Amino acid sequence: MTWDEWSDFQKLERSKAHSGERSGDVLYAKLLWCCEDKHYLTSKACQQKFKDKVKYSCEPSSSKQHACRKSIWQHHIENAISSCLHDVLERTDLSDPGETAAEQQLNALIAKTERETKNMRDNLYTHAWDEAAKQELDKHDEDLEDLLERRAERSALRATVTAVKSQIHAWGEFYGTLTVDEKKLLLHATIQWIDVDFARETATVHWTFSEATAKIDLKCERTQSRKRILTSQQASNDEPVAGECGQVVAAGGFEPSTLRV
Ligand SMILES: [Zn+2]
Repeated sequence: MTWDEWSDFQKLERSKAHSGERSGDVLYAKLLWCCEDKHYLTSKACQQKFKDKVKYSCEPSSSKQHACRKSIWQHHIENAISSCLHDVLERTDLSDPGETAAEQQLNALIAKTERETKNMRDNLYTHAWDEAAKQELDKHDEDLEDLLERRAERSALRATVTAVKSQIHAWGEFYGTLTVDEKKLLLHATIQWIDVDFARETATVHWTFSEATAKIDLKCERTQSRKRILTSQQASNDEPVAGECGQVVAAGGFEPSTLRV
């Protein structure tokens, strides 16, 4: 499946599902996580001076909850995240259906639940009827259904990531021409969550399709972002300066990449 086919399909599915709540240009809703306070950052589309800029901040959702109230700007991290996504996609072999650790676990759990369900059903129908055993069997059947659904979701996700990877040869151009909705689809399909560590000024991206993580230096990205804004104001040079602070951290047998976007 190509990106276009996949994206068209997703849009169709979404328009069928619900009218959808629009939240401006918020790309990382429910993806950025405050490490210290252990909850998601709240997104805000800013007005006036910072028009069309999006900020994510650590806000308490109740009076009892602790929140550091620190924040992060979307335009400071978007380039680095896109660049790291390119990097990790390039290094991940999606054609090899080799199971990740999580998939192995899931498959083992499915096999075990299937065996148990079969045994319970056989027992129930060959021995005297037992209401408690019947209830336990029903519970097991439900669990099995959930697990199979989870496996189906994972394989749909793999198709999505494959569609995204088909665009990797001209990544900057591809990413740059996406609409906000397409970017949201892409980011939510590829990113599991992003740990934001305000004390160390780092963000760590966890992907859906790889055990590798990407570490982003937030201080460095802030500087890069300011440079980009200055450069575009001067309009003298539109060469991208992205990605110098993002680094894919090897895990699960990957070699550290030498390629920077
Ligand atoms: Zn916090």
